[in-house]
Amino acid sequence: MASSFTRMLSGRNAAVVLASLGAGTLASGYMLSDSGVAAAERKKMYPPSADYPDLRKHNNCMASALTPSIYARLRDKLTPNNWSLDQCIQTGVDNPGHPFIKTVGMVAGDEESYEVFADLFDPVIKDRHNGYDPKTMKHPTDLDSSKITSGMFDERYVLSSRVRTGRSIRGLGLPPACTRSERREVERVVVQALSGLRGDLSGQYYSLTQMTEHQQQRLIDEHFLFDKPVSPLLTAAGMARDWPDARGIWHNNEKTFLIWINEEDHTRVISMEKGGNMKRVFERFCRGLKEVERLIQERGWEFMWNEHLGYILTCPSNLGTGLRAGVHVRLPNLSKDPRFSKILDNLRLQKRGTGGVDTAAVGDTFDISNLDRLGKSEVELVQLVIDGVNYLIECEKRLERGQDIKIPAPIVQFRK
Ligand code: ADP
Ligand code: MG
Repeated sequence: MASSFTRMLSGRNAAVVLASLGAGTLASGYMLSDSGVAAAERKKMYPPSADYPDLRKHNNCMASALTPSIYARLRDKLTPNNWSLDQCIQTGVDNPGHPFIKTVGMVAGDEESYEVFADLFDPVIKDRHNGYDPKTMKHPTDLDSSKITSGMFDERYVLSSRVRTGRSIRGLGLPPACTRSERREVERVVVQALSGLRGDLSGQYYSLTQMTEHQQQRLIDEHFLFDKPVSPLLTAAGMARDWPDARGIWHNNEKTFLIWINEEDHTRVISMEKGGNMKRVFERFCRGLKEVERLIQERGWEFMWNEHLGYILTCPSNLGTGLRAGVHVRLPNLSKDPRFSKILDNLRLQKRGTGGVDTAAVGDTFDISNLDRLGKSEVELVQLVIDGVNYLIECEKRLERGQDIKIPAPIVQFRK
């Protein structure tokens, strides 16, 4: 993997980053701060085995991959921003499991975390992304929505369609690790860029600090806005610090193209609408995302990206495309069938409650989306969701008629 340290320092954006952050931040970014030195020195008084976390009751990817020897190799390493392995894994240590999904159990504090702590991140990525090997494999990008076929769902079953991704601004700390000034810089850079969107994409920014409680709750209830920082995954990772400072949502007038700022990622870019027209949702997603990238680049910034990991985001589960394409779909019969989970697994689909990842399913309606984000392109993943959800609807109709259903063969994840 090419070194992102060199890239960060020699890239054409380095000057902009350095100038805008100021010399003070620069110094603390590349030298150990006093407290960092003290913490590192204190640790060295004890062997790594004495610091090894108790993971015996844990069920997340980090807990399965971490071994005493990996920990011993990595415990005392720091990224150039002074971020440690213990800070990466804290969320997975404090949250042994999740009631609804298998979590990853670790996050990155900066782009370099994935390199400095690759001995742990790589096996976790391989586990989470169905065998994708970040050392040898290359991640494809394809945002050509014209390649999608049969992207219209039966609206008696599909209530809404959504595609989201995340993007991180190179040179600024990720949400678990960023300083207040970096977080505010993300907000400033992104909001300025978004003011350049035109036509059906043009809209406005709504800062959380300036919203009333009522306005915020309404946006959450309507599924447009991220939840309050109630998730222990978020809080244990340090991502709720200073909440709601520098958080907000930008959206177009129709609320069909939305950008979340400074939640779990610097940005989340979302296209959504009621009904089953996934092809149209994906078309707007691709068009909007390309525009956002152009506007950010025009201002001298760029997204974190490399050819092995694709787009770099806070949680390893979102590397690659960062794409989650999903529908809210009614499946009253299939969801009660004992084969439901196996069918989802084989189609590489994930189910969530309709209120988001931390909510249980209510009634017969589920959020069904792609499980993987890395090693397949955006077009491939959206097509996989379209074909998979159509299969689920087909099963639902068969069960309605009293006919039998089949568990499909597992999808081959990567072409060799
Ligand atoms: P994300 O992966 O985007 O962070 P979450 O599970 O945290 O998703 O949910 C965020 C919000 O997006 C929730 O309010 C959820 O209801 C909403 N949402 C997710 N998928 C859909 C969909 N297909 N239609 C409508 N709302 C959705
Ligand atoms: Mg979320």
